[in-house]
Amino acid sequence: MSSVSSAELKREVSRRRSFAIISHPDAGKTTLTEKFLLYGGALNLAGSVTARKNQRATTSDWMELEKQRGISVSSTVLQFDYKDCVVNILDTPGHKDFSEDTYRVLTAVDAAVMVVDAGKGIESQTRKLFEVCRRRGVPIFTFMNKLDRPARPPLELLDDLESVLGIDAFPLNWPLGDGPRFKGVYDREKGQVHLFERTPGGAFRAPVAVSDISEPAVREKLDPDVYDQVCEELELLEGAGADFDLGAVSAGELTPVFFGSAANNFGVQMLLDRFIELAPPPAPRRSGEASVEPTSPDFSAFVFKIQANMNPKHRDRVSFIRIVSGKFERDMNVIHTRTGEKVRLSNSMRLFAQDRETVDDAYAGDVAGLVGNHDFLIGDTLSSSKELVFDEIPRFPPECFAYLHNASTAKFKRFRAGLAQMLKEGVVTEFRPLDTTGAYVPLLGAVGPLQFEVLQHRLQGEYDAETRLEHASWGFARWMRKKEGETRPEDLPELSMDVKLVRDIHGHLVALIPSEWTLGTFTEKNPDWIVSDVPFPP
Ligand code: GDP
Repeated sequence: MSSVSSAELKREVSRRRSFAIISHPDAGKTTLTEKFLLYGGALNLAGSVTARKNQRATTSDWMELEKQRGISVSSTVLQFDYKDCVVNILDTPGHKDFSEDTYRVLTAVDAAVMVVDAGKGIESQTRKLFEVCRRRGVPIFTFMNKLDRPARPPLELLDDLESVLGIDAFPLNWPLGDGPRFKGVYDREKGQVHLFERTPGGAFRAPVAVSDISEPAVREKLDPDVYDQVCEELELLEGAGADFDLGAVSAGELTPVFFGSAANNFGVQMLLDRFIELAPPPAPRRSGEASVEPTSPDFSAFVFKIQANMNPKHRDRVSFIRIVSGKFERDMNVIHTRTGEKVRLSNSMRLFAQDRETVDDAYAGDVAGLVGNHDFLIGDTLSSSKELVFDEIPRFPPECFAYLHNASTAKFKRFRAGLAQMLKEGVVTEFRPLDTTGAYVPLLGAVGPLQFEVLQHRLQGEYDAETRLEHASWGFARWMRKKEGETRPEDLPELSMDVKLVRDIHGHLVALIPSEWTLGTFTEKNPDWIVSDVPFPP
């Protein structure tokens, strides 16, 4: 057992910041991540993440799919030291079909940075991801990006945060012009101006000059109408008179807003500096009624992501855990609470894109990748004491359904093995018909159709299993349970037209329903049943 002192735990926990960067595709998430790493000294030259992204995409088949489609399917975890802090950045896939994956990643963070393209404002995916963060009460910091390009008026952008997303916004800095006339930002807290000087490619730390807004040097730099407008806007903001309320930020009700340009490396350090000061350290997680504190000496963690074959050179499975409390030490023995088995955590990795590095110890807020064929499922709890069960991972109802046919009888074994792995990773879910006769043709559900595409692509690339997809026309899945008493296997609801009854992998009864109209009549016909759009726990 670990002999970690409470002073060590306190110190390590308080200096950790774990967050996700969320954005609509193309708003600049990857670029901002790169620039953060630049300040963390993890990269000498920004651009390496992109370079790695491309390298990676050419080394693995299914990552080839990411490249073709311009999407990020996998998520990476990056850790670096910055000032006195240990920063963990969890990447999230940008495409809406992977929002389920994104939700899982968000269970593992304590804050989010939302990148908005200032020329476009709030886009559809920003809104969806924001909703997820809000549901979890995660504090959100906003970076208005691409000010070097024509942007929407900053006051309008703030209004959008309030009217479209329903979150109060507090700008900590303010842009001086936009597009070709973008000259920097005004730091409202310090009353200082940071002048923007373009650097070739934005690859190096942007030089920054600091002075007061009323100085002639500032006024001369700005076009006169821009200067007047900025002064007017700043007065308006001051007049609005709201105080910066850190409590509201922590509660996810107020978002600090920063303006800048990630590609030009401008405003990024200001964001990072304020972020590590204002963002909360690792938060407790709930196990039933209890709250597990990050500084509690007993180790605990939960699995939020499973991924096999990340690297074709290491054909293995990685289970990602978020540490909730205590100290992680390599080779420690823990209890896998779902099965009650003892597990030795011997092969623990920190992943930096493609590269791996052994993790010897880690604390609450950190993520470790456990390599090997563990019997873990997404959502499982690992703990040094038996009682804990974190119920962090939300379950989502699939909205698309399809039968997956194995195209080659000779390769049936590979088909089975590949599908089993994909189900474990939660790429798709399987439903079993009540009567199983004839050939095995799995019926699968997904939240978005791209999940099927990834499934087929990975089965082909990683298992050499060719498949054919037959789409089914159901649009809703409803979990069914008797309102009173136990639901026995022989209890079945009244069926209405076109409804198919199946069971999920935990044996719960599920009705697959084609339309909203049928859903209505089906629910009416079954007054004794709970008809839930959220899957029941295992
Ligand atoms: P992601 O899809 O959100 O990860 O976006 P990327 O970081 O890949 O950026 C999308 C595109 O926007 C790339 O071509 C970037 O070079 C570009 N970009 C990112 N930040 C800025 C910026 O501040 N100004 C300009 N002009 N382009 C940017």
